[in-house]
Amino acid sequence: MLKPLFSSFWSGSNEPEPEDPEIRIVLLGNPEDKKQAWNIILGPETLEASPARKPQLLGIREWKERKVVLIDAPEISQLDKAKISPTDLLLSRPGPHALLLVTRPEQFNEADQAVRPWIQGAFGQEALKSTIPVFTGKDTRRSMEGDLSCSNLKQMIQDHYSYYSIFDSEEEPGKSQAAEELLAKVEEIVEKNPGSCLCITSMDESLKERKTRGEEGVQTDSDVEKVQDVMEVQGMGKEGYQDEAEPGSRHQISEEPELRIVLVGKTGAGKSATGNTILGKERFDSRLELSPVTKFCQLRIQEWKGKRLTVMDTPAIFDSKESQTFDEIERCLRLSRPGPHALVLVSQLGRYTEEDHQAAKRVKEIFGPEAQNHTVVVLTHREDLRRVSLKNYISDTDNKHFRDLIKACGDRYCGFNNNEVGEEQEKQAEELLFMIEKMVLKNKGKPYCIPKPDSNVKSQLKKRKAEREGQKPHNAKKKGTEV
Ligand code: GDP
Ligand code: MG
Repeated sequence: MLKPLFSSFWSGSNEPEPEDPEIRIVLLGNPEDKKQAWNIILGPETLEASPARKPQLLGIREWKERKVVLIDAPEISQLDKAKISPTDLLLSRPGPHALLLVTRPEQFNEADQAVRPWIQGAFGQEALKSTIPVFTGKDTRRSMEGDLSCSNLKQMIQDHYSYYSIFDSEEEPGKSQAAEELLAKVEEIVEKNPGSCLCITSMDESLKERKTRGEEGVQTDSDVEKVQDVMEVQGMGKEGYQDEAEPGSRHQISEEPELRIVLVGKTGAGKSATGNTILGKERFDSRLELSPVTKFCQLRIQEWKGKRLTVMDTPAIFDSKESQTFDEIERCLRLSRPGPHALVLVSQLGRYTEEDHQAAKRVKEIFGPEAQNHTVVVLTHREDLRRVSLKNYISDTDNKHFRDLIKACGDRYCGFNNNEVGEEQEKQAEELLFMIEKMVLKNKGKPYCIPKPDSNVKSQLKKRKAEREGQKPHNAKKKGTEV
């Protein structure tokens, strides 16, 4: 059986997805305690959760076919008690589903008293129902479950909160039963409030205010100014598509809280290396190997201009039509719900071969006929260009398939040398991200909704389904049953 989550988009229904594909959790507490909780919830990914260019920490993991996004809040002492400042929780837009108050048992009283008024002021009285105190430290479970002196603590918890969790320091990161239980509690909170989250109204107002003030030319206040800084940034005036930008002009970026990017293309084209350039750090495995290095779809997240930048690297799902790849195709589509904002089609400069052409066709089959309207082409090994400009290279090429692809993708392309580091690396990433933002604005800020697979993909999916259920067609025939 196909998993129920897929039924709506595989059948091509235009109904909105009933379930939120993402669970956003904000961590409150002291840095040491939060670090422990962070490790336990995220597991091995934690090592990579620290972004290279980070003002604020973001982590991501897959849990029960959903994305769980962890957002680190500023220190308790810095939280404005009355309202949320626009930049405090910008990364949790449109709002978190749950708040974790991470603390040691002996410090609970103090932490609770500091944080509770802030939570209620920012999200309303009801928000405590979506807040889970999480107790960290050594031997916490034994002392909290056994020690009678903790009865006082339990009473304090019960007075205001509906749940609590215990994270002993011995919990195994990523495999912890306590983390599973905590996420199940968060899921329960999400299910009790279908389709809603803790909306950060004060922040939305600030954004609106910013627009109005901008239009009227009124001086902005400092909070609003900060948001403005991340919503609009200085132009770069580079070659290629960027030539259109006037030097010194300002790039506009969409108000989407998240930018979901999926890297596609044939194996060896440089997808993982391109992902690393975008994120500014080696976060995907990129190596010269005969067999594909990446076996599964991998998600990485970090902050970019006040939004969550989620990059998905894909394994060899575009190289062949082997039905074994369908599990990963399903995962890729599921994890990019409600749809990617951009498909980044990666190909090696000067080597756009038949294999690349087939991979591009496969992308269209999987992501649907509209895919190219949401695609940007990245040409790796840009250093091979030497003195020729990318623009001239593209206009002079006699590779028809390649020229057609660039045209079909609305002339959105850029060149990457994935061996660059530092400023040069960052410049390349920004060029691509601004190009994507321009495309998102052109598409009226809408992500590319999860597509209907074409009949070819559907029939392969059927075959895969039969294989999974162990009903091999010839066996079935022998028995005279329907396949
Ligand atoms: P994937 O299979 O599409 O993910 O490709 P990888 O990212 O693993 O890259 C395949 C190989 O190409 C690796 O050895 C990379 O180091 C190399 N590579 C990727 N991009 C560039 C580039 O811009 N310049 C050079 N010189 N090598 C690159
Ligand atoms: Mg790879």
